[in-house]
Parts: sequence; C-alpha cells; structure tokens
Amino acid sequence: MSTPVLERTRTYQVRTFGCQMNVHDSERLSGSLEAAGYVRAEDGDADVVVINTCAVRENADNKLYGNLGMLASVKRERGGDMQIAVGGCLAQKDKSVILEKAPYVDVVFGTHNMGSLPALLERARHNGEAQLEILESLETFPSTLPTRRESTHSGWVSISVGCNNTCTFCIVPALRGKEKDRRPGDILAELQALVDDGAIEVTLLGQNVNSYGVEFGDRLAFGKLLRAAGQIDGLERLRFTSPHPAAFTDDVIDAMAETPAVMPQLHMPLQSGSDRILKAMRRSYRSEKFLGILERVRTRIPHAAITTDIIVGFPGETEEDFAETLRVVEQSRFASAFTFQYSIRPGTPAATMDDQVPKAVVQERYERLVALQERISLEENQRQVGREVHVLVSSTEGRKDAESERLTGRAEDGRLVHVAQPAEGERPRPGDIVTAVVTHAAPFHLLADEPGPLRIRRTRSGDAWVRAQAESCAVPAPGAAPGAASGRVSLGLPGLRARS
Ligand code: SF4
Repeated sequence: MSTPVLERTRTYQVRTFGCQMNVHDSERLSGSLEAAGYVRAEDGDADVVVINTCAVRENADNKLYGNLGMLASVKRERGGDMQIAVGGCLAQKDKSVILEKAPYVDVVFGTHNMGSLPALLERARHNGEAQLEILESLETFPSTLPTRRESTHSGWVSISVGCNNTCTFCIVPALRGKEKDRRPGDILAELQALVDDGAIEVTLLGQNVNSYGVEFGDRLAFGKLLRAAGQIDGLERLRFTSPHPAAFTDDVIDAMAETPAVMPQLHMPLQSGSDRILKAMRRSYRSEKFLGILERVRTRIPHAAITTDIIVGFPGETEEDFAETLRVVEQSRFASAFTFQYSIRPGTPAATMDDQVPKAVVQERYERLVALQERISLEENQRQVGREVHVLVSSTEGRKDAESERLTGRAEDGRLVHVAQPAEGERPRPGDIVTAVVTHAAPFHLLADEPGPLRIRRTRSGDAWVRAQAESCAVPAPGAAPGAASGRVSLGLPGLRARS
C-alpha cells in the first residue's frame, strides 16, 4: 500500500493503552503518520485521534468505549473531517464489533498492519466510509516502519513479535500470532541507527526474548545477539524484556555477565510460586527452576536488580498455592514486582476454567502480596544507601522535578533515582549521566540528596536532546549536522531519514 500525500497539514494524536510493546507500536504509528505529512497536535484538538488498544489489561473494553464515547461528542461538535482510528490488540480481537458498537469510528486496523494507517485514513476520507483492515499474519516486520521516538537518549528495538507459548491466561498468542524473529543483521542495523541518532540506551523487545532464534533454528541466538549488540560503539546501556523462565539458559546469563553494555537488571516473570498453578497456567518451569535461575544470575552479576510479574487468584488457586507464591517471593528478593489480580480475559483458556476465585479472596491475597513485596523492595533499596549510582537523566520521568528541585533518571540496574539539584552550577540535560550517592530509600525510588555540585558526564544523548529542542522551535542548533537527530522520525535503517 503506497503512502498517500495530504492536501493540507493535518494534526494527529495517538493514545496508548497497555504494555511497552504497545508504547513502541505507538511510536511507529506516529512515525508512519509523520512520514505521510501529519504533524503531532500540540493541544487536544487533533484532526486524527488514534487509539492503540490493549486486550491484556483489565477493563480494556470499558476503557476503549469510554474514550470513544467522549471522542464521538467532540467529533459531532467539530463536524468537518475529524477522524478516529482504533488499532492494536483489542481491534485485532474484536474486528467489526468496534464499528458495530461505535459507527462513528473511521478506521479499524490490527496488530499486523500498522503501516497501513495513513492509507486507510485517506481511503476513509475519500470514500466517506469506515475502513476495516485486519490481517491474520504479519506482512512486514513492524520495525521497518518509520518511528517517531519519544526520547533522544533511549529507544526500543523489537527483535521478535508473537509467541509460541500457550499460557492459559494470555490472549497474546491469539492476537499477535506465532513468534516471528527478525534477522540479527536487521536488529543490529537498527541499533546502530538509534545510536547514530543520539541514543545511548536501548531495550530489546519481544514477548519471549530468549526464545529468539527459534524461527531460524539457532537456540543460542539471543546470547549471541546480546554480545554482538555490546560491540556497538556508543551503545552504553542495553536492556531487554521479557524473557521466559522456561528457556532461560546459562549462555544468556554468561552473555549478560560478559557484555559490559548489558545492564545489571533482569525482568523475570514468575506469575505464580505454586507448581500446581504454573501447570494450570501452562508455564513449563517450576518454582525450583525459577529460583535456580535467579541464583545463577546473582552469582555472575551480584548487583543485578531482578523484577517480576505475578498474578494473584488464578482459577483454582488455594490458600496453599498462594502461600507458595509468598514463599517464592520472599526467597526471590525482587527489587520490584508488577502484581495483577486475575480476572477473566474472554478468548483465553483460563476464562472458562472452573474454580474462578471470588473477587474478595483475590483482593485479600493481593493486598498481602503487595505488602510483602513493598517490604522487600524497601529492604533491597535500603541496601543501596551509600552506594554510588550513575543516573541517566530522563526527559520523561521527573514530573515533580521542578517543585522538588531534583532531577530524575534510572540507575544502571533500572532503579528510579531522584537526585538533588543545587540551585547554582552546571545542569545536566536529559541524556546526560549524573553520578551520585544514594542517601535515602523508599519502596519505589531512591533519593540522592547529597549537597554540593553535581558530577555530570555530558553525553551524545544530551547533545541530541539540545538539537531536538532547537529543531522543535525551528532554531538551528549550534553545530548540528544536517539531519542529525532530527525530528526523531527514523526508518530504523542506517543512513535513511523519513523527512529531511
Ligand atoms: S509467554 Fe505466555 S504470557 Fe508471555 S506472551 Fe507468550 S503466552 Fe503470553
């Protein structure tokens, strides 16, 4: 499908629900729209509103139709040619149901054809009727689409999409299909392009990153990829999410430990500590294997911060099963955990299982788990007090920085750190690295409130941030190479730019 050319400049807004994968998909939706001539709306009054939906999180339907209801009245008031598009996992799942329930929607597209959005919008306007296009499988790997990056210092790179597992609570295999692996050369080229654009931190993304290579028959491909990415000059911080405990092999731990750019951080989803529940979830590892992985990671990478996902109240979960989860959580010493209350996701095998656990029971267990994990998070963070940390100053995470007179960023192990900023003296830019000593700990963050001037390392990412700021004000940045780190729309390929 060719990219249409717009008659006048139209503005867009993308609203994202869901996981990091969806946030990255939204960067691609924005990139595709900008490559087609749309510009991002600075206020809430966009000509095109795109909702990138999630079918995994609770109440996804309510959230979507609530948003659509409000947009319908805006569209009625504005009249004219405002357009609404709905894409992502829920669109892939519900297909025409969205147009039946919300006939004022102009475009519905799925997870496999994000690049078609500009053409579908154009066709809907031209034909005066809604366009529905859902593909059942991927035609183009999404990372070859233009991307409008939200940050100059950090980026995401997809290494695979889809999943070959069949966890009974999860809708992803039904919506995103079988795992498709991107060729290592393409991934490395995109990493290089991001680094050339000013990024110093990249997170590799996949539903199940350590099974990467299954499609082209190399079981060791993920560890090799980490090592190869670690060779890219200027890529200082390499992270990945999410691995799966079943196939997490020692060669990956070796690659993490032996590649300096790989950060001492691991997100390892536990889901349940009960072997009986893991079996019902069709997760093929057991709690002892899980704990063994953590032990081996900590032996090789002693300061690794390990985080996890846990579901409470899966169908059939008894008090004994839940006690097993508490036991494994206590032993695992996670730095933090994403905890979820199980709730039915239509279309998943678990949705029709007997023994759904009553909501009140789930709630009570959930509160106990959260209290336990908060205690552990606090204790683990207290162990950081007195340590020196290197904080990558964030452009997106410090919403209260101005009033608290701090700056915010992530330490190498992924912990959130707020650093006191003296009233006078040099200031870091987003993307620079500040070295500080941790003075206080809370469950969800660290404080580094030492008095005295900041110890700042100015980086290429900080330079890129300055150039991007200057360009967004249409002021030429001092020393900016033509097109360098420009409007942050990249094609994911070295040497190519979507717009000059
Ligand atoms: S590994 Fe399980 S939870 Fe993760 S995407 Fe695949 S099916 Fe879903």
